[in-house]
Amino acid sequence: MKQSRKGAPGALLTNANVLDYLPPQMNAAPDPRVEIADLRIAGGRIIERGRGLAPHEGEEVRDLGGRTVMPGLINAHHHLYSTLAPGMPPPANTPRSFQDVLTEIWWKLDRALDPEAIRISAVSGAWDSLRCGTTLIFDHHSSLTSVGGSLDLVEQGLREAGVRGCLCYEVTDRGGPGSRDTCLEETRRYLQKTAAPGDGVPAHSVPWFKGLVGAHAGFTLEDGTLDSLAALCTEFDTGVHMHLAEGSTDREICKDRGWPDPLERLDRHGLIRPRSLLAHGVDLTPLDLQTIEEKGAWLVHNGRSNMNNGVGRAPVDRFPPRSCLGTDGLDGNMFGELRTTFYRGNETGRGPLGFHGAERFWIGGYQLAREIFGEPFGSLDAGAPADFLIGCEDQKQPLHQGNWLSLLLFGMQPRLIQEVWVDGAPRYRRGDPAPYDGQACRAAAQRIWDRMANL
Ligand SMILES: [Zn+2]
Repeated sequence: MKQSRKGAPGALLTNANVLDYLPPQMNAAPDPRVEIADLRIAGGRIIERGRGLAPHEGEEVRDLGGRTVMPGLINAHHHLYSTLAPGMPPPANTPRSFQDVLTEIWWKLDRALDPEAIRISAVSGAWDSLRCGTTLIFDHHSSLTSVGGSLDLVEQGLREAGVRGCLCYEVTDRGGPGSRDTCLEETRRYLQKTAAPGDGVPAHSVPWFKGLVGAHAGFTLEDGTLDSLAALCTEFDTGVHMHLAEGSTDREICKDRGWPDPLERLDRHGLIRPRSLLAHGVDLTPLDLQTIEEKGAWLVHNGRSNMNNGVGRAPVDRFPPRSCLGTDGLDGNMFGELRTTFYRGNETGRGPLGFHGAERFWIGGYQLAREIFGEPFGSLDAGAPADFLIGCEDQKQPLHQGNWLSLLLFGMQPRLIQEVWVDGAPRYRRGDPAPYDGQACRAAAQRIWDRMANL
């Protein structure tokens, strides 16, 4: 395992039952397919796909005996900083609204984080995700008393786990102008760092990390800050990753402040644009959804988080074509997220979302990754990143062209994953020890919980 983490010369996986969703051409329409194939892997990519491929000298050859291989999962909206939250003492004042949930829980947690807690939250949360088959996380980070360098700590944690990341810092005005400027500076620093391959990284390799401009939500951002965010998007030719209309709070605060409605306000400031990633989108009008579609921005559905926070039901059946799924910090289980999205669509009568909707949201994650990374994620053909999971030998039902979505919705569980590969090497094999010290992790959790009690 240790040796392969550093990168083996190459591998040939034979007799894989391969599911993939998109052709390798970057702008191709989804075309899910299942077929038995051999995959040759080198330099972090799949370099050949076919039947009966002959081994090359020095190549590690493994016969998968028909086991399932599918692209690593994409989590389009996560908060690794919240990894240590489960089990924390309840807040002194019981939250009665979504705003209370923010002020009593999350805005205390993100102030309690220290650098070591940020790193260990990232590595332990990324490890959870990896074991559930996720190989790329779009993370939305906040640590208001440890802002400078915090994205490097998140990156370090992801590297230790072996998971790719698209990172950003949640810029906000809730700490005052000085704090906001520190958030903007961290954003700029990380965008500069990830704009080009690092020293010694071959130009043709698949990037492990990308950056986005990050922001909390419109209702904690002043107009001038929105302008600064838009300027960063333009300067780095990218989009903003932020919360939008997570329940009615966004709209209510806009009304109180005399601002336009949330989506309109962001649009006026130039933030609804290609590569922008808007999480939740619960309280949006049909016109808002049309604007998001026309401007080419992405909407991320976080069904389980919406249910947990009681913010309402997102109009998922009207979400634009650029839509995908994220866990919003709840856990790393994207199969669970997909399943909940589908169940929720059926809850009040089968219909509005259906199989097609679930497929669209699932494949959307790969299309988002393509847009941000410029790499053919979602394909397991020659040229694609070698990011995939291998199923167990004891998988109960056969996987074929006609049932892949049904198996994902009703059959796939993290416990059916045997291995997860990222960048052409296994980063997780069932039974591997965790890449962090559990005792140190629990100590970090207790430390931040204790701190939270005094905030
Ligand atoms: Zn979120």
